[in-house]
Amino acid sequence: MLFNDLGLMTELCQAVSEQGYSQPTPIQAKAIPVVLQGGDILAGAQTGTGKTAGFTLPLLQRLSATKITGKKRPVRALVVTPTRELAAQVAESVALYGKHLPLRSAVIFGGVNINPQIQALRQGVDILVATPGRLLDHISQRTLDLSKVEILVLDEADRMLDMGFLPDIRKILALLPKQRQSLLFSATFSNEIKRLADGLLNKPVLIEVARRNTAAESVKQIVHHVDKKRKRELLSFLIGSRNWQQVLVFTRTKHGANRLSQQLERDGIRSTAIHGNKSQAARTRALADFKRGAVRVLVATDIAARGLDIDQLPHVVNFELPNVAEDYIHRIGRTGRAGNDGQAVSLVCIDEKKLLSDIERLLNRKVTVESLAGYEPNPAITAEPIKNGRGSHGFTKPRNNRNGGGQKGGQKSERSSRAKNSQRRRVNSRVNS
Ligand code: AMP
Repeated sequence: MLFNDLGLMTELCQAVSEQGYSQPTPIQAKAIPVVLQGGDILAGAQTGTGKTAGFTLPLLQRLSATKITGKKRPVRALVVTPTRELAAQVAESVALYGKHLPLRSAVIFGGVNINPQIQALRQGVDILVATPGRLLDHISQRTLDLSKVEILVLDEADRMLDMGFLPDIRKILALLPKQRQSLLFSATFSNEIKRLADGLLNKPVLIEVARRNTAAESVKQIVHHVDKKRKRELLSFLIGSRNWQQVLVFTRTKHGANRLSQQLERDGIRSTAIHGNKSQAARTRALADFKRGAVRVLVATDIAARGLDIDQLPHVVNFELPNVAEDYIHRIGRTGRAGNDGQAVSLVCIDEKKLLSDIERLLNRKVTVESLAGYEPNPAITAEPIKNGRGSHGFTKPRNNRNGGGQKGGQKSERSSRAKNSQRRRVNSRVNS
């Protein structure tokens, strides 16, 4: 099947072929015709399936069917994403796929100066990509009007709920016209997501490209059992001996990400960390350095890595398993993207046995274990409870948070601290917006 067969206009087919895509991915083949017809969709698709083009291409076509005359261009399509990085990436895709069409787009997210965003909105925007917190800031400053939105996309809806954005989403929905097309994308389907979908979508077409909660088939998953204290040494060994050139490494905590990145640097491996305590500029720079190969290892926490689109990322390492099994699927979804093979290696110590069995239950299968000579766990070491940040290493750098909700204890698990305190969860999610 070709993109032309899906009913896409020449300008879009041209943009797609300039990207070097010859065929639509399964989600694109399923979603594009439905969206072109004006239907709502509920799509179960992980990042890496080509879902962004799946909604962006038909959205651009629908908007260009109506000619807007006059100076004032109202926002007619709104894409809401959980993180700044994802917003920036979706906006990039909108600009890329729409480059042969006379439509205007803009992206708004927190952590950066609001004034250029206000300027852009004032000039008129057809497609707006936004994170929830900053979107509502614009609403309260009356610099954004959503009353003419024809198409709404909620991207990575499960993560938005995880990050505590549900109240914000509800506020945003209340500002949109009732008569509109809505597209909801989510990697997993909790009851909460189903409830949100029920209230939001009108007779949606259900599209699922990977089985529910199933990791991408193209990802080879391996577990190495190793003692906690030897994980860093093993990681350096794997990177060096196997000559891995681009590795995304996950830690549970921000402090852990910083520390590991520094240790790898000391081992002579160019590395940088990306997490919620870093400024937007630092996160963007770290990602750009990683993408262009200036940095070999990017160490990330779950939230910071969410939605990162790095083409053909070959290796993902779980330096620590995530507390929540679904995050494992999100993590390994960074590799094996759009048909490329990838490898996800998990370094598992005795404390993490339960986390591993939770993941295997979710995957509905065992992950292959490979033992590495010289790194076998010491049987004398017994399991200890996993610390998520109550230790003495937490740093107290205040967060860049206009609500004044500086979070202490950089070693805290981003997720567990959110789960513990709904007030703090709200503050954190605004910071991530
Ligand atoms: P996404 O799931 O939207 O994050 O897309 C994952 C990656 O697949 C991105 O790097 C896209 O550029 C790429 N991609 C999207 N559509 C196609 C396609 N039809 N053929 C090949 N690569 C694609």
